[in-house]
Amino acid sequence: MSSPIKSSPATLPPISPSLVAPGGTVGILGGGQLGRMLTLAAAELGLKTHIYTPESKSPAGQVANCVTEAGYEDPAALARFAEVVDVVTYEFENIPLQTTAFLQERVAIQPDPLALAVAQDRLTEKNFLQQNGIATAPFAAVSTDLSLSEAVERVGCPAVLKTRRLGYDGKGQRVIREVRQAPGAWDSLQKAPALLEAFIEFGCEISVIAARGQDGAIACYDIAQNIHANHILHQTRVPARVSEETAQAAINTATDIIVKLNYVGVMGIEMFADLPGPDAPNLLMVNEIAPRVHNSGHWTLDACPVSQFEQHMRAICGWPLGGTARAHNVVMTNLLGEEWRQWRSYAQDPNASLHLYGKKETRPGRKMGHVTELLPLDS
Ligand code: AMP
Repeated sequence: MSSPIKSSPATLPPISPSLVAPGGTVGILGGGQLGRMLTLAAAELGLKTHIYTPESKSPAGQVANCVTEAGYEDPAALARFAEVVDVVTYEFENIPLQTTAFLQERVAIQPDPLALAVAQDRLTEKNFLQQNGIATAPFAAVSTDLSLSEAVERVGCPAVLKTRRLGYDGKGQRVIREVRQAPGAWDSLQKAPALLEAFIEFGCEISVIAARGQDGAIACYDIAQNIHANHILHQTRVPARVSEETAQAAINTATDIIVKLNYVGVMGIEMFADLPGPDAPNLLMVNEIAPRVHNSGHWTLDACPVSQFEQHMRAICGWPLGGTARAHNVVMTNLLGEEWRQWRSYAQDPNASLHLYGKKETRPGRKMGHVTELLPLDS
């Protein structure tokens, strides 16, 4: 087994404890595949789950003990939900903050919705990182034609223009190669409030899956290397091909972020890095934080004693964190759109673990499942 990466204990602010013992119920906001895998992990620990989602027959709802199908702005449904669960968590970051504020008056929510407020707005997120001395791509806010030209001047070209809110998997983004393309790029984003970022020539994209328990303990899984296709995560490989120093710096950065947010639960932190080499300048910049379990941590289901999903449940329920040591090298491949129909060939591969999400409708680029290939540690 490779050794788990653990950070040294830091000075930690107090966390209000919420112990949920086996038999207790965890409420989950969101009904997607992350909620489904959280639910399956909860069941393994003897916990019940109650999914709250506007979606009917959702991937998570199919496997949970209880489901509320209602909108995030339905106070009566939210109040009933709060009454029957012991703690609330979330599986995606675009839950309205009014919803979490309403729930928070009635029941414990973990992770603290402060993390949602930071992650929902790219400008707030980048400012938070910068204020805490964490390196990011140079950036500037864009809200008017004047601020766009000032941002282009400050950041330079090439650059990436990103809407502040609701962008994911490359949606709401435009690459600007020359200054004159900037106004057209912003027009094509409906002049939504945006952020201009310098285009970073990184060697690879990596992520840290970090967890913090209610007792302040921190555990990180081995660094993952992510390969995107058409802006969507295609593959995660572990170990990442980065130097020991970069791996440790990534762990330290992730630890800093979860402590500063007084975070309890699992968080995915995406970073730009360099591949090792004599001329590599040791780049490490945070691109994005996801205050939830993360696609690039799915491999932990098959390669670690405690998966990211179980770890999240342990953390928010006030249990000790579990082991993160990796027993294999892994390649996790997302099954997008029609790819899941190859399920029989994956099922025949003795080194592959197949996970399908039970989604009702197959759409191009939609995450329908994933497959994890387990390889020897020395491969
Ligand atoms: P994001 O939605 O911010 O995660 O961006 C989606 C993908 O676009 C990232 O995974 C990168 O591959 C690429 N990207 C985002 N920001 C930058 C940047 N500043 N420089 C270069 N590539 C970027």
